[in-house]
Amino acid sequence: MTASVRQVLDEKGSRVHAVPPGASVYEALELMAQHDIGAVVVAEGECLAGIFTERDYARKVILQGRTSRDTRVGELMTPNVLTVSPSQTMDDCMQLMTENRVRHLPVVERGRLVGIVTIGDAVKTVIAEHEATIRQLSSYIAGDLAS
Ligand code: AMP
Repeated sequence: MTASVRQVLDEKGSRVHAVPPGASVYEALELMAQHDIGAVVVAEGECLAGIFTERDYARKVILQGRTSRDTRVGELMTPNVLTVSPSQTMDDCMQLMTENRVRHLPVVERGRLVGIVTIGDAVKTVIAEHEATIRQLSSYIAGDLAS
């Protein structure tokens, strides 16, 4: 995969849905449902404080008998966030996500949060690149057979 993170963000946009650490888990889930996403970034002003995903909800709220309205996102978020920069490739992202078993990577440029890439973006990129290769090979074969 040769596409860069910047190219993917240019295509899908750089909108990042974030909540403050003091938001309730319920509010985070509402935001996820509203935007059809599986994670929210936790930010304190401009500062990336953590990430909270559906997996955190399943394991740290439901399975531990907590309630989403009475639990703050800041209590359960993962604080040490793995990030990428826009100049990295989607290959780097795929490797990081696979090795660390995460599906979301916030994108940070000069200390500022500028987007997020997900496992879904990586899969889409692989499929698009495979389709382009197939098209190139098909036209090469068709051209070769015609000559
Ligand atoms: P996910 O597969 O993205 O739902 O995340 C699985 C677990 O890893 C959850 O506990 C998340 O909070 C955490 N997580 C997700 N993305 C990241 C990331 N970029 N850096 C650190 N932890 C993460």
